[in-house]
Amino acid sequence: MSESESIVDLASPHLPEVRMHVVMPTAPVTGKIASTTSCMRGKSASFVRHVDIDITGTALEGVFRAGQSFGVIPDGTDAHGKPHKVRLYSIASPSWGEDGFGRIIATTPKRLLAEREPQHAKDDPNDHSLFVGVCSNWLCDRREGDPILVSGPNGKRFVLPTEPDAHDYLFLATGTGIAPFRGFLMELLEGPPAGSPAAKHWKRCTSRIDLIMGVAYTNDLLYDAWIRDLAKKHPNFTYHTAVSRETRSDGGKGEYVHQFLERRLRTDAELALRLRSDRMLIYACGLAGMQLGVFQLLNTQGMHGFTKVADELAGVPCAEWTTEQIKRRVRPTHRCMLEVY
Ligand SMILES: Cc1cc2nc3c(=O)[nH]c(=O)nc-3n(C[C@H](O)[C@H](O)[C@H](O)COP(=O)(O)OP(=O)(O)OC[C@H]3O[C@@H](n4cnc5c(N)ncnc54)[C@H](O)[C@@H]3O)c2cc1C
Repeated sequence: MSESESIVDLASPHLPEVRMHVVMPTAPVTGKIASTTSCMRGKSASFVRHVDIDITGTALEGVFRAGQSFGVIPDGTDAHGKPHKVRLYSIASPSWGEDGFGRIIATTPKRLLAEREPQHAKDDPNDHSLFVGVCSNWLCDRREGDPILVSGPNGKRFVLPTEPDAHDYLFLATGTGIAPFRGFLMELLEGPPAGSPAAKHWKRCTSRIDLIMGVAYTNDLLYDAWIRDLAKKHPNFTYHTAVSRETRSDGGKGEYVHQFLERRLRTDAELALRLRSDRMLIYACGLAGMQLGVFQLLNTQGMHGFTKVADELAGVPCAEWTTEQIKRRVRPTHRCMLEVY
């Protein structure tokens, strides 16, 4: 075992046992839309909602952990006349749900709407008609009281450790990747509603938490007012935004999450120190590919505890790694939780 591997093992977080696949997509349970609201900061070309689903009395009641996801099976049939397949959505609630009793879970669906682009060699390259994703639009169209078929829970790694105070946290989100972090922040900082079972044992987390939220435009920020408010109330939590397609207030170019982090590390010595400490855990959720720049940055800065680099890349300077090399040769360790889609 190499030295870096043994360091990683010592610092690995202890994750809780979670329940998975209690309800299979082939035999889903019926929940009910409890509420649906836009959770965007402003008007935008995207549409993202916060949807609460009531699962009272189903086998899913009380079995979720913050950070897991669940399945939604939309009504109707696909092009072959078969029932639509399940789609996964991250839980945006803490482990005790929106209500404190695990009976209401929330998620953050974004409508998939785009000009059609060829996906396969046989697709017509001249077809630029509107592509409307099946499940995201179905889910965003639901009204309060509508039934919804759900399954789950899914995922076991993207959860908070059993001893939250033993770690500091860097949360990296792009777009709807903010969903699990809403649940995490409620769980770490806000606590369960008074009188709910979890309220008896809950303790506010005193660790340092940094969240970097990446979006294309400021109006695309999700849960923005609530997160800002949370940061005001809790000095151990810092909320950063990385907006990629707008000029920054200091005149600089827009940035992706890893570019923001790189700039921040130049001036925030404490964050750099935390990233070099084996207390630190990184959680990244959102667009597939968001982790690549982050992995490269961490290695360039000598912050090695979060990734395992294959021997083939050992002699190549990190700054010269290609996207393909990072995809194939760099893997997250137990201190880096990744949920990208
Ligand atoms: C663990 C996990 C958690 C997730 N959490 C969330 C979440 O919290 N919120 C959220 O919104 N989503 C989330 N997703 C994504 C979600 O599961 C769906 O993939 C997403 O909502 C799109 O589903 P859809 O049915 O609307 O699209 P579909 O009808 O399934 O269409 C998607 C497919 O269409 C194709 N396609 C895409 N764009 C085009 C185009 N322009 N032209 C032609 N074809 C195209 C692609 O092949 C793509 O696979 C998550 C996914 C995973 C795996």
